[in-house]
Amino acid sequence: MTEPLIYELSVPGREGVKPPQLDVPPAELPAELLRDDLPLPEVSEIDTVRHFVRLSQLNYAIDKGMYPLGSCTMKYNPKVNEVAARMPGFLGAHPLQNPETVQGALYLMYHLQEALKTITGFAGVTLQPAAGAHGELTGVLIMRKYHLDRGDTKRDIILVPDSAHGTNPATTSMSGLNVVEIPSDERGNVDIEALKTQVCDRVVGIMITNPNTLGLFEEQIEEVTQLIHGCGGLVYGDGANLNALVGVMRPADVGIDVMHFNLHKTFSTPHGGGGPGSGPVGVAEHLVEFLPGPIATLVGATDEGYPVFDLHKPEKSIGRLKAFWGHFGVLVRAYTYIRMLGDAGLRGVAEHAVLNANYLLSRVRDVYPLPYDRICKHEFVVEGKFENAPGIRALDIAKRLIDYGVHPPTNYFPLIVHEALMIEPTETESKRSLDAYAEILLKIAAEAQAEPELLHGAPHNSPVRRLDEVTAARNPVLRYEHEF
Ligand SMILES: *Cc1c(COP(=O)(O)O)cnc(C)c1O
Repeated sequence: MTEPLIYELSVPGREGVKPPQLDVPPAELPAELLRDDLPLPEVSEIDTVRHFVRLSQLNYAIDKGMYPLGSCTMKYNPKVNEVAARMPGFLGAHPLQNPETVQGALYLMYHLQEALKTITGFAGVTLQPAAGAHGELTGVLIMRKYHLDRGDTKRDIILVPDSAHGTNPATTSMSGLNVVEIPSDERGNVDIEALKTQVCDRVVGIMITNPNTLGLFEEQIEEVTQLIHGCGGLVYGDGANLNALVGVMRPADVGIDVMHFNLHKTFSTPHGGGGPGSGPVGVAEHLVEFLPGPIATLVGATDEGYPVFDLHKPEKSIGRLKAFWGHFGVLVRAYTYIRMLGDAGLRGVAEHAVLNANYLLSRVRDVYPLPYDRICKHEFVVEGKFENAPGIRALDIAKRLIDYGVHPPTNYFPLIVHEALMIEPTETESKRSLDAYAEILLKIAAEAQAEPELLHGAPHNSPVRRLDEVTAARNPVLRYEHEF
């Protein structure tokens, strides 16, 4: 970065804003709250504004261009969601307020729970979990408690396909259970014969993602759920990305017992910058009593006929997983998104997400090797390598995409595809932007053969050039330090 950072612009005594002369008697500040030393930059208002605006312009965002980060669903987030989330009644509500005084917030939570039940077919929903991985932990703890509650104490294994998101095995370990990996077959599905050798009375359940992280629909999903139920286990669906399913297929109908949904992915909240997410969990009837509380519940009506809501904790609840009511602002955005789209609009999300992914795949598949040649769902995985350019890796292609001003796809995931490029265009991109992305990918493939050093050296015009990943991992410097 050539422009000075705000710390470097600091001049002792310089002020941003001068408050007006005091026209009330000064009050003493409580001494125990004051620090002797707090090194902050001393800068003018304009320097501060320029610093933050410059940083915001260095950042890439879906509001700037296409961001096809597979599995992350970086779709456009309609601005009306933000308007709703900033309504004073929602924004200013305090989590310790008496439920009587926040009936509007409870109305929204209740109707969001109901909408998620309708979309997925589940009997109960908790809105507590803070993100997808947190929803997984919630779901697996529910599965564990279900078995223990029946006196079935010897189950300690969760089956996880080798294409799974890394959070699935991590969740299993955090729940005190053991992972047994199930391989994929040559069509990219869970290998049924391998699965059969692992089902036994020690299985808590399976964690399955459908469509899986190859972007492929599990063709034998019903056989999988029957096999697991046959040994007394439960089926966990990783529903982080419901973009291919909303309005088309209800996961509960194929025998999934419990599933989390990433509101920030499918139901549209800006994410990826470390901001709050939300990972509600839906469960079938036999698991409802284990859900964490509080759950917004309709308890009656006023004399004037308005509904009355309260918060409720199920009988055998696994307990609380999050302070207060979950990430309420994300719930408001998701509810707004669902209501703005309506039934037909939600189905349109799935139809266009799948159509866009297949269109982009059709444009690049003759050049980028396709490990599993099938119709994809909301995303697809190709390989970032070429026979006529042996030194080129997926990483080189990803970095070169930055030079063209677009965001690279997810790379090196799923792990079962070497040099994976995992592309999820989402339903919000137009044919024009899909074509533009395809053209860039094809151009890079041509460069790989003609001028491979262009790819090896990329990115060439970004504020930060290619990082030394090994040093970054071994010696991470995560803080900017400056002496005033
Ligand atoms: C994103 C994702 C998760 C984890 O969700 P977070 O909100 O990032 O915790 C889990 N599984 C899959 C398939 C995902 O894409």
